Amino acid sequence: MRFIALALGALFLFGSIASAKDKDSRPYQGPIIDVHLHAYPADGNGPAPNAVCPGVAANLEYDPQTPWPAKMGALMTDPPCDDPILGPATDEEVRDETIAIMKKYNIKGVLSGPAARIADWQAAAPGLFIAGRELSLKRDDVSAAEIEAEFENGAFEVLAEVTNQYRGFLADDPAFDAYWAVAAEHDIPVGLHLGIGPPGAPMLYPDFRVQTPLRIEAILNRHQTLRVYLMHAGFPFADDLKAMLYLYPQLYVDTGVLQLAAPREDYYAFLEEIVRAGFGDRIMFGSDQMNWPGMIEEGIEAINDAPFLTYEQKKDILHDNAVRFFRLEE
Ligand SMILES: [Zn+2]
Repeated sequence: MRFIALALGALFLFGSIASAKDKDSRPYQGPIIDVHLHAYPADGNGPAPNAVCPGVAANLEYDPQTPWPAKMGALMTDPPCDDPILGPATDEEVRDETIAIMKKYNIKGVLSGPAARIADWQAAAPGLFIAGRELSLKRDDVSAAEIEAEFENGAFEVLAEVTNQYRGFLADDPAFDAYWAVAAEHDIPVGLHLGIGPPGAPMLYPDFRVQTPLRIEAILNRHQTLRVYLMHAGFPFADDLKAMLYLYPQLYVDTGVLQLAAPREDYYAFLEEIVRAGFGDRIMFGSDQMNWPGMIEEGIEAINDAPFLTYEQKKDILHDNAVRFFRLEE
């Protein structure tokens, strides 16, 4: 009996040595940078309050007899899942709940939205928000020279989110050439919406068209010191993204909205492919918080729960890569 106990003890000892050699995949709990936050009103995505289900486009069983906007509205007022991400009823609650989550997780972030709303959020939480400058051609009547003047006056630090895709302007559209030139000249980081959008986007924004990461090539080639991050990581075009990340080592991406847009297994398959290709040092955490502050926690948990990421990779995505990209002093 004694011999067996000793033998078992030895087994446990070896077992614990072996597990100590396993990869360190603890959740990362240090400071976080969220590079994709919006200061939007509670009704920014339809009448408030509303809610969304992770994996929002899966199994919609849609019949186009119902107009798409009505179907989307119904999905958000009566979300078909057990664990929807809830949006509050008022603008103040969107702001205050976002700030509370950011303080809880020690997050700083890049905030885009209407300038007055950004100023309000910054005043409510000094030091938490880096001012972004949202821009959408055709919707916003602002010239490249005016953007340049705003930047020189200190109105913003990051040109994001650039949502030209919603109005049919893809990344290499000549209509944006002068803005790219301003960003390059002043070394302004640019966050560009690229990939897909909400499900049924062209029925909500008639000019919306899909674009793959290949669309950014002409711009990166023309402005080789320009810092661009593809918001939403060009999902779901993993192949095209790997080609761009390989050819253009200055290119970064963020994970914004993927915790909501894709079923979790599909988000993980995409993320794992990019990490496996060796580009884990250029993925930055973005929540794409719009009017659902819980998007931030959902996004952090998705990274921390990813079974294929090491602790170091989680730390890179949730913090270190953004510090490098934005040249933050941490
Ligand atoms: Zn976006």
